Amino acid sequence: MDITVAYFHPLLHAEVVKHDFEQIRAMGAGSIVYAIHEQEAQRWPRDLERGFRQAQDAGLKVYLSLGRYGNLFAGPLVVPSWYTFHHPKSRVMDRHGRYHDISCFNHQSFRAWLFKEIEHYLRTYPINGILLDEPRGPDITCFCSVCRALCPDVADIHRFRRRSMIDFLGEICACVKRAEAHAKTTIVLLPQDLGQVDELAALPYLDTIGGHLFWQWLHEDVSAVEQWGRTIVEVTRQHDKRSQLWLQNFNLDEAGEQELELAFGHILNAEPDEVASYYYWRNNEDPARVWQTTRRLLRRIPRRQLHWQFPLASY
Ligand SMILES: [Zn+2]
Repeated sequence: MDITVAYFHPLLHAEVVKHDFEQIRAMGAGSIVYAIHEQEAQRWPRDLERGFRQAQDAGLKVYLSLGRYGNLFAGPLVVPSWYTFHHPKSRVMDRHGRYHDISCFNHQSFRAWLFKEIEHYLRTYPINGILLDEPRGPDITCFCSVCRALCPDVADIHRFRRRSMIDFLGEICACVKRAEAHAKTTIVLLPQDLGQVDELAALPYLDTIGGHLFWQWLHEDVSAVEQWGRTIVEVTRQHDKRSQLWLQNFNLDEAGEQELELAFGHILNAEPDEVASYYYWRNNEDPARVWQTTRRLLRRIPRRQLHWQFPLASY
């Protein structure tokens, strides 16, 4: 069972980053997720390059999450997408003619821009793959001119939206593999979107499906974690994909913290390929204690390889 840790912290202070990565690696993690927002590659490319190298020097693979690109994915900062802001005509339009603050993925110009960004990251930085965080589902059916042209039958437009979203996500994965054949692709879903797991698992260029099993954030009983986890693990196994189950070690008060161990047990019972959690992530009542608990729990996972070496040619 592999361990992934989301590192949603600045890469600007090299000494701090080095310390953090060593701690994450010592805990048994093999990879980190770093979320990039659109402006970062323009404003601090050297810090990204150095930070990702530091991760790899520490023995950690780097997966890049496209934070709020087109406002279609989640990201640690609640900031609007620059692309969507600068291309208001790319926005989703509902049946009443109202625009919403997300770019419609059926716009060729939006897709072309996004694919170019992905290629740029994979070819410029030492990273091992791309992670798509909670892609926005077909919650709003788009009636923009592009969608209407692609689906002239209005009665079918809701189903069309769903189909075209899966197609779009599949194309992103194909784009990743074209740019870098060894790069890995991951899509992480919220429990309410688990209805998409079967279709996603059939995508040929998708490697891993993850689940944000955030029982406390979603006001569910902690036992739901196991049921959500099992759904993902079963479907991914059938399709020879990997599963990645996320432990909610954020937004916890003392009572929530006491359920952390239970949640972890439920995740282990589901037997995923990977367990994922966060390094000092937001809004915990006692951040240091939550991290200590996370470390203690993750150390219980038997480690397959004690000394993992990064193959030089494979990023
Ligand atoms: Zn549209």
